[in-house]
Amino acid sequence: MKNILIVDDSTVSRRILKNMFEAVGHTVVGEALNGKEGYDLYVKLSPDVVTMDITMPEMNGLDALKHIKEHDPDAKVIILSAAGQQEKKEEAQKLGATEFITKPYEKRTILEAVERC
Ligand SMILES: [Mg+2]
Repeated sequence: MKNILIVDDSTVSRRILKNMFEAVGHTVVGEALNGKEGYDLYVKLSPDVVTMDITMPEMNGLDALKHIKEHDPDAKVIILSAAGQQEKKEEAQKLGATEFITKPYEKRTILEAVERC
């Protein structure tokens, strides 16, 4: 079972993810509303896995990914992109994203991605 940090500016998205993870026994150790907060919480909490939205105020998910990977090259970051953001996939991979999943996602897709981390 994993300690997970959820980074997403949508309250609804965070709640859905949290319920999904906790239902199978993972622990959500933190929730951040933007990339800056996500990075700060990553440093503070050292979670096993991060789920990272892309479009967020203050600092977007790809910039947060970059900072997290600079801090911890072994960080496991799953990018959850909105529909129509496929062009971000290459950039995310270059920055070291563990997985790139496009919304709307199947529950199983994300749970399996977390298992692989
Ligand atoms: Mg968003």
